[in-house]
Amino acid sequence: MELKCFVCGTTDKNRVFFECYYEGEKKVTCVRCLPSLIHGQH
Ligand SMILES: [Zn+2]
Repeated sequence: MELKCFVCGTTDKNRVFFECYYEGEKKVTCVRCLPSLIHGQH
């Protein structure tokens, strides 16, 4: 499975990734983008 952040598009293998669900779809986000998702910022 390719790890690619759906927010910033990074595929950096040295970064921590999280699986999540967004708009009913399974997504992968990196640790850098996770805080903004938690706080609902856009
Ligand atoms: Zn990201």
